[in-house]
Amino acid sequence: MPAPAIPASEPPLPDDSRYMALALAEARAAAAAGEVPVGAVVVRDGRVIATGRNAPIATADPTAHAEIVALRAAAAALGNYRLDGCTLYVTLEPCAMCSGAMLHARVARVVYGAADPRTGAAGSVVDLFGEPRLNHHTRVEGGVEAAACSALLSDFFRARRAAPSAAAPLREDALRTPAGRFAPDAHLQTLAALPALAGLQLAWSDLPGRRAAGPAWLCLHAAPGWGHDFSAALPVLAQGGARVVVPDLPGFGRSDKPKRESAHSLAWHAEVLAQFVDHLGLRAAVLLAHRGAAAIALALVAQRPDAFAGLLLADPRPARWRSGSALGAQCGGDPAYDAPFPDNGHRAALRAFAAIEAAPPAPHVQAFWRDAWRGRSLVLAAPGRAADAAAQAVAAGIRGCPPPEPLDGAGAHPLPARAAERAVEYFAPFSPS
Ligand SMILES: [Zn+2]
Repeated sequence: MPAPAIPASEPPLPDDSRYMALALAEARAAAAAGEVPVGAVVVRDGRVIATGRNAPIATADPTAHAEIVALRAAAAALGNYRLDGCTLYVTLEPCAMCSGAMLHARVARVVYGAADPRTGAAGSVVDLFGEPRLNHHTRVEGGVEAAACSALLSDFFRARRAAPSAAAPLREDALRTPAGRFAPDAHLQTLAALPALAGLQLAWSDLPGRRAAGPAWLCLHAAPGWGHDFSAALPVLAQGGARVVVPDLPGFGRSDKPKRESAHSLAWHAEVLAQFVDHLGLRAAVLLAHRGAAAIALALVAQRPDAFAGLLLADPRPARWRSGSALGAQCGGDPAYDAPFPDNGHRAALRAFAAIEAAPPAPHVQAFWRDAWRGRSLVLAAPGRAADAAAQAVAAGIRGCPPPEPLDGAGAHPLPARAAERAVEYFAPFSPS
């Protein structure tokens, strides 16, 4: 038998693989943005109508799956909510929400890559497309480029589990809490190159944000908390694509912890943050300070007035906590508060911060807030006479600041989402962008 003829060039990919390659490119873009890598394209008559990629974190939108994003864009492009004759390609088996949306849109055909044994609604967990009471016309095909689609997902999760690779060497007089004590954070960043840090590694969460999406938010935690204090507030602040930056102060959270208490002072923390703000290039941001972080916040803005257009102080009293042990128990039973401090050696900042947070502002800082501050301000007071009196005293020292607003849970760890909702309502309409 003659040998089969060898084609002169690579055979062209069949159409399904070609369009799946486009969906894979969208998925890779999602991964680059820190989102779970899933991508989709909508095709009709051999033409790509729309693309979409997974974006629930960036948009603070649980419905922002790749398929929904692509369906919305396709319907907008066609001027019709019915996508008759369209094929949707997606790298992962659609979930129940997306499958439902495709049935509503009357998509003619769905082609997916990898099966999803956890939430797949095209046969893996349930089969909405095979349910005759729901569906008359959407055909489904799975397993197209399945290996590439699932490799992208497993690579992404493996990388996310691994510790940040570009970690700075640890200073001899400091400790670094093992990364495994913290939940993975797709937006975690680290930096040691600021002069004030002198080689200590600062960690922060940075939700990138989109242009013209309202003010950027800088969230400052108090002792004994860390960035986790803003876990409920963060998705609210990120609404509409605003940038949200949540640093862990040196000595707290995922940042390096000097062993000596004397390393900590109000002036040093304010200087670290001032250099951090310069590094990020923040302009006209809103500073949101929780509890005793008010002391550092007031010093920071006086040092970098151009970086800030707004100030929100949530229950600006130094917290009453014991630095000894079981911070989680003191913070509503949340074990995330014990995570940064595996032993007493890690707790120098806790011992130092009682004095730092309770110190009255320096005279030049007081003068700045009384006479020179031009931004908007809001003070939230926790319920109770003491909290209210403290909030009144702080607000009275800030030029143009209205009387404190009562807000249940303003002093709680984590800061409740309703405090962030109030912040968005108060500051977003006056966004400089
Ligand atoms: Zn989905």
